[in-house]
Amino acid sequence: MKLKALNGFKDIIPGEVELWQAVETTARQTFARFGFSEIRMPVLEKTELFARSIGEATDIVEKEMYTFVDKQITMRPEATASLLRAYLEHGLHVQKPVQRLFTIGPMFRHERPQKGRLRQFHQMDVEVLGAESPLVDVELMAMGAMLLDQLGLSVSLELNSLGCPDCRPAFRKNLLSFINERIEALCDDCKRRSNTNPLRVLDCKNRGCRHQVEEAPSIQDHLCSGCADHFQAVQNGLQQLGVKYSLNKFMVRGLDYYTRTTFEFITGDLGAQAAVGAGGRYDGLIERLGGPAVPGIGFALGMERLILLLQQKDETSSANHCDLFVAGLGEAAANLAFSLVHTLRGNGLSVLMDLEGRGLKNQMKQANRAGAGHVLIIGEDELSKGQGILRNMVTQEQQEIPLSDPNLDQQATIDALLAIING
Ligand code: ATP
Ligand code: MG
Repeated sequence: MKLKALNGFKDIIPGEVELWQAVETTARQTFARFGFSEIRMPVLEKTELFARSIGEATDIVEKEMYTFVDKQITMRPEATASLLRAYLEHGLHVQKPVQRLFTIGPMFRHERPQKGRLRQFHQMDVEVLGAESPLVDVELMAMGAMLLDQLGLSVSLELNSLGCPDCRPAFRKNLLSFINERIEALCDDCKRRSNTNPLRVLDCKNRGCRHQVEEAPSIQDHLCSGCADHFQAVQNGLQQLGVKYSLNKFMVRGLDYYTRTTFEFITGDLGAQAAVGAGGRYDGLIERLGGPAVPGIGFALGMERLILLLQQKDETSSANHCDLFVAGLGEAAANLAFSLVHTLRGNGLSVLMDLEGRGLKNQMKQANRAGAGHVLIIGEDELSKGQGILRNMVTQEQQEIPLSDPNLDQQATIDALLAIING
């Protein structure tokens, strides 16, 4: 019996992991420029945390969560709820009135696995807590757009407002009567949703339902004056920063906690898995979790989808690289090489050697495969002359390097190698 990873769970192996590291590095640099600090939370939380924040009548809570029924704990399906729990538990709201936090890590949802949809997937999640200004919404979307741009991806930004508890009920009622007029033409999911969460009918993926709701009333026409002003200010700010966006009245997001601004970063290059990232404002949520009335807004980018887009764009996987390969031939030379390699690593170089006593030809092959910039060859002749041969693998030029007895100070050798390799 072969043991395999679970369906929908994936290893990220060398050759691919370099792309992940590059995306994370770019993201960390971008987040830092906008004043965000990292926070890391556990992947297990009380089930109640997600039920209360994400909402009972959502796909996630209804059918996608990995919950241990006997313990009433759940593998986090998204980061916002856990992050807010940590924010409240550690009194971060008392320390600083506005907190800008980001986190990167795995999330778990029991979905049908397909391209860009896994059961363990990874998000880069950013949240601003304690700020109500529409300029914060603008800044967040601009940051997401900047990061995607820096990764070389062209992704479009779609924007909507979901209003607030003051204006949404009237819209909901209006929408419900629109839905009820054509309820028979809707899919079973939508028939059910029309009772629990009628807004979700607007973003049903079913083509028939989409056609039915084309003429549905728009929440954008039902906003109270506070929400309308906020929405207008968000759009003005995006225009001021030159961030391109389009309005989408059908975007309602699958989570209950959103208010006002909601947005998605959309790609045309991943089929049905079109959302690369999504987020919005959740002004009542911190209160709902037992905290003070602190407004919040955030978004999450799906790492797998970013990686797929980058792989589609550029087929070349990042090549290996190490600074130096030391080829020691024969027992005495290999022994000298062994301590030399260790010391060079301590001096900051990435260095490899063969530990199996293989011949020169084989070792040169290993050096090539490892992408070594230089190879230091130490055979018996070199050892007795006290001079190793350093070959530049790009130019093929060779030069001599002083060697000393393995039991003596190797400083001359180290200095010579560092000078050449570090330029
Ligand atoms: P979708 O409509 O594709 O199911 P979603 O609305 O459920 O997305 P969010 O909860 O907003 O997604 O999560 C933010 C981002 O996380 C998504 O835009 C997507 O890039 C990524 N994501 C969500 N679920 C998965 C998954 N199962 N596998 C891979 N990435 C995912
Ligand atoms: Mg989903």
